[in-house]
Amino acid sequence: MPDFAIWPDCNIGCVFCSNPVEGFRGTNEKYTLDVITRKVKEYKEGHRRFLKFDDVSDYFNLTGGEPTLNPDFLKILGHIRKEFPSRLIRLLTNGRMFAYEKFCKSVFAIGGDKFEAAIPIFGYDAKTHESISRAPGSFENTMEGLRHALDARKDNQKVEVRVILTRIQVKFLDGLIEMLLERFPDIDRLCFLFVEVEGFAEKYRDRLVFPMSECATHVDRNYENLQKLKEVRLYHFPLCTLPTRLWPFVHNTLSDIKLVENHEECAKCVYKESCVGVHRSYMKYMGAPDIKAITMERSVTLSGDRYRPVSYTEEVVS
Ligand code: SF4
Repeated sequence: MPDFAIWPDCNIGCVFCSNPVEGFRGTNEKYTLDVITRKVKEYKEGHRRFLKFDDVSDYFNLTGGEPTLNPDFLKILGHIRKEFPSRLIRLLTNGRMFAYEKFCKSVFAIGGDKFEAAIPIFGYDAKTHESISRAPGSFENTMEGLRHALDARKDNQKVEVRVILTRIQVKFLDGLIEMLLERFPDIDRLCFLFVEVEGFAEKYRDRLVFPMSECATHVDRNYENLQKLKEVRLYHFPLCTLPTRLWPFVHNTLSDIKLVENHEECAKCVYKESCVGVHRSYMKYMGAPDIKAITMERSVTLSGDRYRPVSYTEEVVS
């Protein structure tokens, strides 16, 4: 899953931002149409030109900063789509630029088949959302942008909402889910990501990180409401930190370079092969206190799919 960084600057300032603190913002000359076109060509020729999960090539994430701020964004998207006509392209965007409906429609038209937009929302109103985005007006822009994206999507395109779970964010979680059900019940997917403490986020780590199992109780409290949505995903959660009924939401995407090697509890665990494992930043900043080997099999159906290890069945119980 290569991450294509399309633009280094951003128009919000999230407290959990994992972008590098130095050597990234303001380096706009490295993200021109010419430079990105050359990198795409070299990537196609087999060179490692886009970092992160470069070894799995089933889809691309277009990232930043905020990728839609690139003045040539539409041309870049069109170029990537032309070069990779059948690859899933997922645009990670804060959605503010989608408030411009014409631009939003153009993005979905150019993105074509197998195109997705993933938009993060932090709270249920301007006050709660912007306490995390730290950008006045961003809540209203994102709400407008999300509606435009949902209206612009065609068959074989999806719009997902992302919620980055932090100690601050979970205070707003119940209201956020209720707001989504009321205003945007047509989203294709709701994804929860446990915060990765990297880049800018390290400065605020004491306000962000908390035990994953505590975080899971906030998600689990909303279980009935979550079942009203088309699809829910949980990223970055080891199975032992979750109630069993949340396991079918688990998706494993972390690269090995982000994970603790040979955790002693994992070595004893019956679900080792199905579990994402322990994120290095969770070990570094929290000590991973709730990682405990599971020694008895639970009432779940394993799917055999390493990305989505547990199938949904009615029998799954907490
Ligand atoms: S002990 Fe390790 S392998 Fe088992 S569920 Fe926890 S993190 Fe996953």
